Amino acid sequence: MSLPETPGNDSAGGAARQAAVDYEAHFHAAPSGYLMTGTDGTVLDVNRTLSRWLGLDRGRIIGASVLELMPMPDRVLYASFAMVQLGVSGGFEEMALALTGAGGDPLPMLVSGVRDSAAGHAGAGDGGVDRLTFFSAPKRTQFERDLAAALRKAGAAEAARAAAEELLLEKQRALEAKDLILQENLALSREREALLDTVLNTADVGLLVVDGDGGTVLLNSHLAGSMRRVAGGPGEPDAVAVFGADRVTPLPPEMRPITRAAAGETFTDEVLWFGTGGEQMAASVSARPVGGVRGASGSVLSFSDVTRLMRAVAAQDDFVANVSHELRTPLTSILGYLDLALDAEELPDHVSGALSVAMRNAERLLGLVSDLLSVASGTKKLARRKVDVAAIVRAGVVSAAPRAAAGGVDITVDIPDSAPGEVDPRRMAEVVDNLLSNAVKYSPGGGTIVVRLRRDGLSLLLEVEDTGMGMSPDEQQQVFTKFFRSRRALTAAVPGAGLGLAITKNIVELHGGNLTFRSSLGEGSVFTVVLPDGPGLS
Ligand code: ADP
Repeated sequence: MSLPETPGNDSAGGAARQAAVDYEAHFHAAPSGYLMTGTDGTVLDVNRTLSRWLGLDRGRIIGASVLELMPMPDRVLYASFAMVQLGVSGGFEEMALALTGAGGDPLPMLVSGVRDSAAGHAGAGDGGVDRLTFFSAPKRTQFERDLAAALRKAGAAEAARAAAEELLLEKQRALEAKDLILQENLALSREREALLDTVLNTADVGLLVVDGDGGTVLLNSHLAGSMRRVAGGPGEPDAVAVFGADRVTPLPPEMRPITRAAAGETFTDEVLWFGTGGEQMAASVSARPVGGVRGASGSVLSFSDVTRLMRAVAAQDDFVANVSHELRTPLTSILGYLDLALDAEELPDHVSGALSVAMRNAERLLGLVSDLLSVASGTKKLARRKVDVAAIVRAGVVSAAPRAAAGGVDITVDIPDSAPGEVDPRRMAEVVDNLLSNAVKYSPGGGTIVVRLRRDGLSLLLEVEDTGMGMSPDEQQQVFTKFFRSRRALTAAVPGAGLGLAITKNIVELHGGNLTFRSSLGEGSVFTVVLPDGPGLS
């Protein structure tokens, strides 16, 4: 480095030297870097602080271009800004740029520069020198970086906040939309509830909804009114006395309709009597289980008032019973006298023939009247005793044989030698006769009848199968209805009153059994009687 020489005498020269020494010490030991370049950027001098920062000997630095001390982007910056500023404005202040450190790392600096156009220097041209001061700025740079990072983070946080706010708004909008739908549904369900209330309370049938414990959930006004009337005051449906179809046998608690319905049972059109005395009411009760009544299972019951119908049926039965009874007495007398007349000797052939026809028809009439009486009064009592049911069935087949033969119908039997049972033999014979005579009657073009009797576990099973006209599904629905006769039975003029099966069913049920059938139109029918083991039968 060449510092300015200060001419003068010894003492003055000493002071000047002293000043020069101080200046040099100051130049080299200053905590900032100094660099002196020519206006073209060639390094003329550098202080030790900067050469230490750069990790280069001063000798290596002097003579090099200042640009060589910088990484490429900073060279561009320096050449295009700093050098221009030095030329145009004579200097620049606090420019941030990096120098290249010993290991190639960028050393962030703050640089200020000033052009001293008047100064001369051995290596400089005529334009003067540029003096550059370097302040190491890693801390500031770090601070700037931290600041930038913090700002970036703040920006990201702000973006996240904005996104969250948008999400929140979206959720709020969705919530508002849901709320609207909920409001609409609520209004709709209120409307429906009002409609349901109206329907329930205008329905001409009693309706009751119970929960799984039989507690009342819903009771329509019709049923409430009926129960009030029947109980003679305010009456809960389950507190009113309930009787069976005979109007007098009280139902045991477990057989009461509400108890059964609460237990989940399904039943249809069971006729029961409610209350006593003049206000006793017959209701046809049905129940269906439903889920979700107060969160648990429950049941809906319907009560149709059939009191008038039951009274009408009873009156009809009374009428038929009375008329039949009144008819039977003179008929028995006619039959007796015809019998007597037929017994008389030497009757002319045409008279005995005519009497026989009268006798046959009077017998048919008596049979019909007996049927009417039996169905109207309902067979109530049985005279059960231990008998051989196989013998009863066989006798029925024997008596049906002539009619079957006349109609071209074959009867085959599959009956054990004996089948002990405790039944009412007269009634059981009626069952066999009715089923066999139907099988013959409804096989107008001839055919085959198979009669089977067998023990099935503890029950006796009687089957009468024919290959006759069979029944349509519609007809099958009504087959046990009193006085029902199929259209084909009527058009084919098959004799009958539509009472045989009703009587047969009644007798079988009195024995504790049941009567069922299968039928197919044009192919035939099978009627099956199942008789459970009678009392005292081993
Ligand atoms: P009835 O035979 O006196 O008419 P029932 O009560 O015995 O009365 O029978 C009722 C109706 O059921 C009959 O009119 C007939 O239409 C039908 N039916 C009964 N048994 C048979 C059968 N074996 N095959 C076809 N139809 C039958």
